Amino acid sequence: MFKINDNFCRLPESYLFSEVARRINAFREAHPEADVIRMGIGDVTLPLCPAAIEAMHKAVDDEGNPATFHGYGPEQGYPFLRDAIALHDYKERGIDIDASEIFVSDGAKSDTGNFGDILSADATVAVTDPVYPVYVDTNVMAGRAGENTSGGWSRIVYLPVCAENDFEPALPTDGTVPDLIYLCYPNNPTGTTLTRSQLKKWVDFALAHGSLILFDSAYETFIREEDVPHSIYEIEGARRCAVEFRSFSKTAGFTGVRCGYTVVPKDLKGVDSEGKEVSLNHLWNRRQCTKFNGASYISQRGAAAIFTPEGRRQVRQAVDYYLENARVLREGLLEAGLQVFGGVNAPYVWIKAPAGMSSWEFFDMLLEKCNVAGTPGSGFGPAGEGYFRLTAFNTLENTIEAVRRIKEARF
Ligand code: PLP
Repeated sequence: MFKINDNFCRLPESYLFSEVARRINAFREAHPEADVIRMGIGDVTLPLCPAAIEAMHKAVDDEGNPATFHGYGPEQGYPFLRDAIALHDYKERGIDIDASEIFVSDGAKSDTGNFGDILSADATVAVTDPVYPVYVDTNVMAGRAGENTSGGWSRIVYLPVCAENDFEPALPTDGTVPDLIYLCYPNNPTGTTLTRSQLKKWVDFALAHGSLILFDSAYETFIREEDVPHSIYEIEGARRCAVEFRSFSKTAGFTGVRCGYTVVPKDLKGVDSEGKEVSLNHLWNRRQCTKFNGASYISQRGAAAIFTPEGRRQVRQAVDYYLENARVLREGLLEAGLQVFGGVNAPYVWIKAPAGMSSWEFFDMLLEKCNVAGTPGSGFGPAGEGYFRLTAFNTLENTIEAVRRIKEARF
């Protein structure tokens, strides 16, 4: 009988969202009259902006005409999109990134998950805790995680972020040097950010110790505060130690359309088993050309349209809508006497469960007392225990109503 990859069997079943759904359904069955407001939504809810829709309609027409038909495109993405990204997301912000360093893809989940393909199977990995689960699970699949113990995976270095350290992950001080460091800012699930000087500490650490930072900035468009870097390449030296992942999903509502990109600077070098320097840009290009046939022409035309003046205005409007929800949530919950984090440069609000309650106890209580459903923080990692995530992706009306109910419940 053929053998499978054992690493896949090590992964525990993904239990968080199915358990959330099970508890909400059980509550609804028991209380059919209750109007449950779902504040756990991790997907955008507003439709795509008109500029993207128009561009994609036109792209469909292109595909129906022999003169403008596009079959396989470049694996790295069409120049019209790579150039627009290089100009608007980087050069206009004074950041030196060339179009040849940008690889367009079908989204940041695939890229953050696939990037490990070109890195050593025994590289050590550090993640902030709580964390977007893809980073951990894909390293389990690759055999880098070790054994699953009660405190997490034995070969993964967890960098706790919590109220006590003001959500700033501490640099390892015990001599541990992770080869790969995943940082996600603005952060999912906590909604918190790092300032330039805080991020610089990580860049300096990576440069000093030869680590690679895998920087996920899927929520970059939500940044409104001056001191929050939009890209890790704003930090000096990051071109030599960091890859950056971006997504049009939360930026422009592309969760269903699928488009994102990864930046792999040409200065970024790893070493092979003989100690010889190898360009990551070259390896990633090789990997993509072998395993990926490019994002669809239609998606890429849609993505390019969000860089036009009207596209940018429209996208800003949608993101402002979510940020207003986040503000209503954050301020309302603070008024309700809860400890609240994030929600300023991100669509996520991270709440400390009151009175020493566990994440799941608070989930049940919020559901029963307020008919509001969110996501227990413990589902995102050991240090998420005792916290709770609410998202800004519901409507403003529902967000206001959820806050009203929570205030009335007086936790
Ligand atoms: N990175 C983070 C931190 C996310 O929260 C998400 C989606 O929720 C993604 C990546 C996935 O992005 P995409 O839709 O581009 O695959």
